[in-house]
Amino acid sequence: MDDTHSVEKLLHQKLASGPIPVAEYMRLVLGHPRLGYYATRTPFGREGDFITAPEICQAFGELIGLWAAHVWGLMGAPEEINLVELGPGRGTLMADALRACGKVAPSFLAAASIHFIETSPALRDQQKRAMGDHPALWYEKFSQIPKGPLIVIGNEFMDALPVHQLVRTGSGWCERQIARSPDGDLFFTVANKPSPLSTQLHPLVAEAALGSVAEISPKACAVTGAIANRLRIEGGAALLIDYGYAESAAGDTLQAVKHHRRHEVLAEPGTADLTAHVDFAALCRAANNCGVKIFGPVTQGVFLERLGIMERSKSLLRDADLIGRLEIETQIERLTSPTEMGNLFKVLGLASNNLSVLPGFVP
Ligand code: SAH
Repeated sequence: MDDTHSVEKLLHQKLASGPIPVAEYMRLVLGHPRLGYYATRTPFGREGDFITAPEICQAFGELIGLWAAHVWGLMGAPEEINLVELGPGRGTLMADALRACGKVAPSFLAAASIHFIETSPALRDQQKRAMGDHPALWYEKFSQIPKGPLIVIGNEFMDALPVHQLVRTGSGWCERQIARSPDGDLFFTVANKPSPLSTQLHPLVAEAALGSVAEISPKACAVTGAIANRLRIEGGAALLIDYGYAESAAGDTLQAVKHHRRHEVLAEPGTADLTAHVDFAALCRAANNCGVKIFGPVTQGVFLERLGIMERSKSLLRDADLIGRLEIETQIERLTSPTEMGNLFKVLGLASNNLSVLPGFVP
């Protein structure tokens, strides 16, 4: 085990032997199990760097929980079901989901065992606290989830997975890399020979003009494929919610966010969140190869409205004082309005072939 104390130091050691792909940079500075951003920071909430839907309003996790209970019903209410969450952050979504199901769908709650995929030890501790007395199990990888029918939820998980950036140069699509100057400054550079990953670009993207940047996330596609395979074999459904685009397109979407503001991607590595927009069309292709039903993507605003967020907000408003009411209205607006998260965030549903249309995807 290395005894380096900061991810920045580790990065500089790595770069001493040459440039690394953007994907490797993301994997290291975000995901290093001891020194990475998710292991060492408090990413979420007002004091943190960014805020996610479950942290904005309890109705989000509640509705997702009821969505899962409904899907379990469509599956024929199996006696045992694995309820899996990918990258649960502070565990807020699951806590809200379980509370809502406890009130409205106790038999689903009795059948469900909770499984979390989380690599950050610090966030695992927060998730344990959020679960209270409710039993749950933690894993590093989706492939470790025990056998059996399953329902998988992932909110803002795929956008944290590493993306490769390819740049169209005169000699083809070449990997965008990060390098270090002799003075220790980090900078972007481009490899001088075409990348073997360029075969994975969508044909329309591959035709983009010279100088264009295109992103691919083999990791996000592999996870989606693994989920789809499990759904086909064991039965069940998955819900993937993230910000991104519905059709594959060229563009540099890699961004760093710190204290709710844009930050330079290469500045103070490991101290800011790094994400890239999710290419939902690429995820659909990965799932399609595995023989499952695909629903959407639909926008988050439409999805939440179909699930009844307006009705849920009315009952929350009834129980709130004046300040509380204003807060709730702002939260719901933030989640659903096309000018806020409503359009940018998309929801993709996957299901084994024995299931009918999943809730939220019926027009
Ligand atoms: N779903 C949460 C948190 C989103 S942030 C929310 O909506 O609030 C991304 C989450 O994914 C964090 O919990 C992070 O630690 C986890 N994560 C990132 N990369 C991961 C990986 N490769 N494997 C497992 N978990 C990962």
